[in-house]
Amino acid sequence: MIDLQSMGNVNGSDLPGALSWAAASRRSRFRQIVPFGLLGILAIVLAIFPATDVHRPTWLWSAGALFIVASLQIVLMPWHRLPAMWKHLPSATFCAGVILLREIDASGTTGFGVLLLLPIIWQAVYGRRIDLALAFAQMAAALAIPVLVFEGYTVAHEIPRTILLLTVAGTLGVVLRTLIATVRARDRTIGNLVTVSRLLSNTEDPIGVLGAGIRLLTDADLVILASLGDGSEITGDVTVFERADRPGTSRRRVISDDAQTPKAVADLTVPTSSDVTFERRPDEPANPVGWPDDVAARLLVPVGPYGSPVCAAEARWHNRPRRPSTFDMSAMTLLGVDAGRALERVVVMEVLDDQAHRDELTNLANRRAWDELITRELTSARRNRRPLTVAVLDLDHFKRFNDRYGHLAGDDLLRDAATAWSHALRDPDVLARWGGEEFVVLLPDTRAPEAVTVIERLQKVTPGGQSFSAGVASLLDSDTAESLVAAADTAMYQAKAAGRHRVFTSTRA
Ligand code: GH3
Ligand code: MG
Ligand code: MG
Repeated sequence: MIDLQSMGNVNGSDLPGALSWAAASRRSRFRQIVPFGLLGILAIVLAIFPATDVHRPTWLWSAGALFIVASLQIVLMPWHRLPAMWKHLPSATFCAGVILLREIDASGTTGFGVLLLLPIIWQAVYGRRIDLALAFAQMAAALAIPVLVFEGYTVAHEIPRTILLLTVAGTLGVVLRTLIATVRARDRTIGNLVTVSRLLSNTEDPIGVLGAGIRLLTDADLVILASLGDGSEITGDVTVFERADRPGTSRRRVISDDAQTPKAVADLTVPTSSDVTFERRPDEPANPVGWPDDVAARLLVPVGPYGSPVCAAEARWHNRPRRPSTFDMSAMTLLGVDAGRALERVVVMEVLDDQAHRDELTNLANRRAWDELITRELTSARRNRRPLTVAVLDLDHFKRFNDRYGHLAGDDLLRDAATAWSHALRDPDVLARWGGEEFVVLLPDTRAPEAVTVIERLQKVTPGGQSFSAGVASLLDSDTAESLVAAADTAMYQAKAAGRHRVFTSTRA
């Protein structure tokens, strides 16, 4: 994760051309007025330039003033409080300015009509589709009004000029809009990618985030995820994400390994390429191999380190979708790699968690796991008013065993005893290694006499001709986890003192 604190000593010169987002948004309004403002200045410059032969200087000044008014409208109007249609006011003002500007030489041949393209560009970049259409209508009106109102225009001459200008305007508007739409779509993709990536960075369910993420980004009808055992075969459960009723949401379904596998999943494609691939159903033959009936196109996303995927993700469409752009495919590649890292992190976390809670020699729960377990069981026993008993076991004369047979044999015995005792205990009972040759047993729902019977049963299965001494204590109202174990421990020492190879019950009140 990027730590902004640690980036504190990066100074501006390290990021040439960088502009903060806040500053960029302040600038953007001013950038919008640049074309209109510049034209205002140009009109005034032309008016005062001595070499310019202007027949109607007043018209020129008025045009300049209208351009400045249009600019001021853009900067000063409280746009967020006004209906969207008000956005046409600056361009209408500007068009009125252009009409005047075209007439400054009193013959309509100034060529300033081309300036009417500016509102088109403006609306293509900043407006909606309807705004662009209205700007186009505004331009058509601005071209037609002078011909109808002022004298000196030959309609036959004006028609081809007007048509040409309108065609250029229309083409320019559409091209710009497409370009802007692409940029916005990329913005959205990056935004979604960041959201999914951020979720992946700390989720415990990368499959869920990845499946929903691919569904969201591709808008596919179905996304199927499955683990790849050795990279070439699907193993384990298959998870399916389907389009849900609410837009942008998915329904998740897990098809387990042993369930009757539906046809759609049986045909899941194992990625053969390390890159994201998009395929459309071939037209020939009628039923192509590997294409379930209702699949019109699919996108295969390898998940995991580049070149060695650990998981296969397939997005499917029932109807022919638009082909994803190179940008979309790159986004998917990134997501696959990111999700691979998240999956790896979850596996590592599970291994570490297991290691932290398991005793290496005997594979039993260790002291840390025991502490967490007894706290939980104690709370549960109290809440449900159920009995709970704890036993402490200590192998008798184990030092002697080690001295006689060696430390490795001692280790074997500890391991074998752990296995034998585990098998002899009931399911809810938990055996843990307390340390050295001492073990603890947690017996939920069990009173002391019953526990003594259980522990005596363990005595019989202890390997290597060994015995142990044990103490048993049941939960009292005043007990903590520590005091309960301490009571069992005291009873164990009493069993030792009484000659070993026996089970004593705590005698506390
Ligand atoms: P007591 O009947 O009084 O419990 O006698 P003891 O010899 O079992 O008790 P003591 O506390 O004197 O010695 C415990 C022995 O357990 C000493 C130590 O070598 C052995 N032991 C502890 N942990 C391990 C282990 O992980 N592996 C092996 N092989 N021996 C261990
Ligand atoms: Mg001991
Ligand atoms: Mg001992």
